[in-house]
Amino acid sequence: MQEILTAGRYWREKFGITVYKIPISLLGFTCPNIDGTVARGGCIFCENESFSPNLEHKQSKKFYLHPTKPENPYLEFQLRQLEAQYRKTKAVLQKKFGAQKFIIYFQSFTNTYAPLDTLRVLYETALSLEDVVGLSIGTRTDSITEETLGYLQKLSKQHEIWVEYGVQSIYDETLTKINRGHDVANLSNILHLTCKTYELNTCAHLIFGLPDETQEMMLQSVQFALEHGVKSLKIHPLYVVKQTALANDFNKGKFIPITEEAYIETLVKALVMVPKEVMIQRVSAGISNDTLLAPLWCGNKHHQMDKIKIALKKENIDY
Ligand code: SF4
Repeated sequence: MQEILTAGRYWREKFGITVYKIPISLLGFTCPNIDGTVARGGCIFCENESFSPNLEHKQSKKFYLHPTKPENPYLEFQLRQLEAQYRKTKAVLQKKFGAQKFIIYFQSFTNTYAPLDTLRVLYETALSLEDVVGLSIGTRTDSITEETLGYLQKLSKQHEIWVEYGVQSIYDETLTKINRGHDVANLSNILHLTCKTYELNTCAHLIFGLPDETQEMMLQSVQFALEHGVKSLKIHPLYVVKQTALANDFNKGKFIPITEEAYIETLVKALVMVPKEVMIQRVSAGISNDTLLAPLWCGNKHHQMDKIKIALKKENIDY
């Protein structure tokens, strides 16, 4: 039976010990799709606070980082926040799972969308924390420069460095519908630079069930990411949370979420296509709070994983 290279298996094979990712949300970061640089309002499904319980949302209205603005009045606070969030989650993971080493995951908003001087201080401080073996940096393909890629390449000589891009779809009409703020040409160019030119470990985030997408389109998006050389995938179904543009569409009957059956069928077909050396970091959604509007099956990650594992077994794949 073929084994999916889950994150747990990947880190264990690479480091010989248990390695866990610790998500961090720092005050001051925003996104060019929210601050007006490329759009306002963000992707139609984005209500970032619902994805990032650590985020101190109200305070972050005071100041936003921007790559062309050198000042960062929050740097000292960000460093304290980084260390505090790391230590808190580390203690939980050590107690619960016996975790030994950690990757700090800059998760919320666009974590290369700041002056490089700020990024250097944050990344290098993160790497200096006890038991940290690397970084994973969540960002957008329109918000990273070659200077930053070159800097990350240097860091990757001594540390485990990953860049995570929201790819979502490779269809311009879909990217427009979800107000993504960039096109597929940008995706292709930056994925190529990151994976091939700078040879950085790259993870692509993909969403199944985007408005009007067929199964064939979703699978083509997976194929595109693999062909560009990504070494990891995160896939999840599109779900609707309250206080988003998508919630308005859903409430007006303009958006119908993907069914659990269709999602799992598409996911299994996608995972059959994925080479065994590509790490799969996520295949489900799990919104366990009252922000979830639809589909309600996205509220229970364990049920989804049980069904996904059963479906994969039929293809002789072990998750
Ligand atoms: S790129 Fe991320 S943070 Fe920015 S609007 Fe889209 S989902 Fe929200």
